[in-house]
Amino acid sequence: MNIPNMAEKLMKEHAPHASVPSWAIRYAASQEGVFMVLSGMSAMDQLQDNTSYMDDFKPLSEDENEIIRQVTKIINEDTAIACTTCRYCEKDCPMSIAIPDYFALYNSASRSAMSNEILFYMNLATNHGRAKDCIACGQCESVCPQHLHIIDHLKDVSAKFDFHLLSLQKNRKQEPDLKIQGTANTRKDCKCWCFG
Ligand code: SF4
Ligand code: SF4
Repeated sequence: MNIPNMAEKLMKEHAPHASVPSWAIRYAASQEGVFMVLSGMSAMDQLQDNTSYMDDFKPLSEDENEIIRQVTKIINEDTAIACTTCRYCEKDCPMSIAIPDYFALYNSASRSAMSNEILFYMNLATNHGRAKDCIACGQCESVCPQHLHIIDHLKDVSAKFDFHLLSLQKNRKQEPDLKIQGTANTRKDCKCWCFG
C-alpha cells in the first residue's frame, strides 16, 4: 500500500511496529455496529499481520483517531487520483490498459518532479495498451467501486506520459546508426517498445 511519506511517518511515530493496513482495518473494526471486517490477503505475511492485531482486538483510541484524521487529510491533499488498486477495472478492458498502475505512476509523478515514472510507464506500455489507447467504452467505470472518472483520468495520464514516450521514440528513430545492447543490435531485430 503506497501512501504519502508524511502520513506513514505519523503512524510509525505512534506505533513503530504497526503496519499501515493495520490502521485501516482497526479503523473499520472500531466503528459502532461493525460485526465483521473483510480484508483481502494474497500472502502469508499479510495473514499473519492481520491476525496479530485482530486476535486481541483493541479499538482505536482517541489519539489514534486523531492520527487517522490527519492521515486522511494528507492522503486526500496528496492523491490526484483516488484509486485503491482493487484492479476490478482491468480485467475486461478491451485495450488491456494497465489502469491502476498508470494511476499510481500519475499520482507519484504529481507529488514531486517526475523521475523514474516515465520509465515504468514505458515498460508497462510494452505489453499493455497506453493511456491514449482508451476507446471510452466505459466498461471500467461501470465496475469501479470508487466511482472514478477513469476515462477522464486516463486523458490526464496520457497528457503526462504519452507525450514523453512518443518524443523518445521519435528521437530514437532519428538515430540511424543506433546500436543497442543484447542480442538485438539493429532496429530491424529489436522487438521492444523503443523503436515503436
Ligand atoms: S473505457 Fe478505456 S480504459 Fe475503460 S475499459 Fe474501455 S478502453 Fe479500457
Ligand atoms: S476499479 Fe477503480 S479503484 Fe479499482 S483499480 Fe480500477 S480505477 Fe482503481
